[in-house]
Amino acid sequence: MASSIAAALPLARRLLGRSVIMAYSITSDCINCGACEPECPNEAIREGADAYVVDAARCTECVGFNDKVACAAVCPTDACVADPKMKETEAQLIARAVALHPEKADLKAKAASGKFPSHLRN
Ligand code: SF4
Ligand code: SF4
Repeated sequence: MASSIAAALPLARRLLGRSVIMAYSITSDCINCGACEPECPNEAIREGADAYVVDAARCTECVGFNDKVACAAVCPTDACVADPKMKETEAQLIARAVALHPEKADLKAKAASGKFPSHLRN
């Protein structure tokens, strides 16, 4: 089920336009392997009671850091999926990345120039 949702998202994004983006969340398909946690550039993932969870307030879809969604790339069960309840723009995501990492001058410069890693630009 989770994999079918993930597979449908690229098409949904093309249809809706790139202005509609969704923060990631973790489904009940999580097997608590822990592989995703160290991959997150924003420390947005932590172990929960039954499965790992994403703090949506810290998730940038890896925008600003990677040209792929790091948690989804390593998850063996396709449990890391975009959350349709969390619709945001790429501008919001890069602004969040900068706000979360005020010490990263290089990230701030990339954000200002518009030249930053984003899986939405692949
Ligand atoms: S999409 Fe990226 S920023 Fe969001 S939880 Fe996954 S690894 Fe972290
Ligand atoms: S990589 Fe997937 S299965 Fe492993 S802890 Fe993260 S969400 Fe769960």
